[in-house]
Amino acid sequence: MSKFKTLDDLPADLTGKRVLVRVDLNVPMDGASVADDTRLRAMLPTVLELADKGALVLLLSHFGRPKGQSRPDMSTAQLVRPLTLLSGRSVRFIEDCQGPEAERGIMTMLPGNIGILENTRFHLGEELNDPDLAKGMAALGDYYVNDAFSSAHRAHASTEGIAHLLPSFAGRAMEAELAALETALGNPERPVAAVVGGAKVSSKLAVLGHLVSKVDHLIIGGGMANTFLAARGVNVGKSLAEHHLVGEADAIFDRAEAAGCIIHLPYDVVVAKEFVPNPPSVRTCNVHEVAPDEMILDVGPAAVEALGDAIKNCRTLVWNGPLGAFETPPFDAATVALAKIAAALTQDGSLVSVAGGGDTVAALNHAGVAADFSFVSTAGGAFLEWMEGRTLPGVAALMN
Ligand code: AMP
Repeated sequence: MSKFKTLDDLPADLTGKRVLVRVDLNVPMDGASVADDTRLRAMLPTVLELADKGALVLLLSHFGRPKGQSRPDMSTAQLVRPLTLLSGRSVRFIEDCQGPEAERGIMTMLPGNIGILENTRFHLGEELNDPDLAKGMAALGDYYVNDAFSSAHRAHASTEGIAHLLPSFAGRAMEAELAALETALGNPERPVAAVVGGAKVSSKLAVLGHLVSKVDHLIIGGGMANTFLAARGVNVGKSLAEHHLVGEADAIFDRAEAAGCIIHLPYDVVVAKEFVPNPPSVRTCNVHEVAPDEMILDVGPAAVEALGDAIKNCRTLVWNGPLGAFETPPFDAATVALAKIAAALTQDGSLVSVAGGGDTVAALNHAGVAADFSFVSTAGGAFLEWMEGRTLPGVAALMN
């Protein structure tokens, strides 16, 4: 991987310098309060480091999808209070992310202060990567730092365009994220296993296609395993399956074989006739014994034990998507059991484990082991695009 600059490459004294920092302030709200402040906490190391060096820290971010409209319910002004409480610093709102009004607000800031610029998506040019908007933002600062991996798959003015106009650096969260991803798939210790689960093959075809050329073991679970089982001639009953994609599944089997990647599919499964918590019809059976009126809702315990043995022999694990319908008991059992095995191997020092994607984080939190993985990425789309082997424009722009 080519190199990018980090905060270590900035001058030690930034007194009075204006540093534009692209962060991800797109937090879920519950009325006027922040429902989950994970993203705010993730950017604190970068923001505080810059503030401590005397910079005027100018935060750039989108917030919701205003599509070029100024909407009070999507104003970043709402984040001033939560960020003040979290950072313990002076945080103020700057009424635009470019232009004279922004300039006026920034003029009153002191070294070490934090300014939250108004929602970048109040300008249509943000999502269009409009060069004039990028120039307007760049004119406000001396340096640009990108600390928002979760937005790096989008080539927008504040994530991509601006990086070509100012000396650009990766923030601490971005740096940690890129290091973890490099360890997991860029240059991993072998053998490498990938767990890919979730609802549908269609949303992860590109991921699976890329992984078979990269990993030694590909563990397929969740609803998407049903399509692969169907391609193998298994009758999956009423299970969620994309029967029109069995040809694509066959192609992935072929590519895996050519690349020497072993695909693991469940050979026992947990099935039920109705998809409700603890249904009376729940039972575990061999994949060849699923009745026409049953749904496969989780990987079975024998398969989980075998998967655990497979990852015990691996040095690296990358995980996206649950093995079963984990929100509904007892269909969380396989995800929880395999996550606990991976966490224990990580804690023993024999496995590097990197997981990512919204549902995956929820599943690992449910299993109570998110903190025991080597790295858990909260990025959704960016993590998946990275698993597809794609270059993320916001990261590429830092490499220049
Ligand atoms: P994704 O967003 O593609 O990662 O899919 C996650 C969703 O897949 C979760 O909400 C799970 O409940 C669901 N899921 C996992 N396994 C199954 C299954 N066997 N049948 C139906 N849904 C499943």
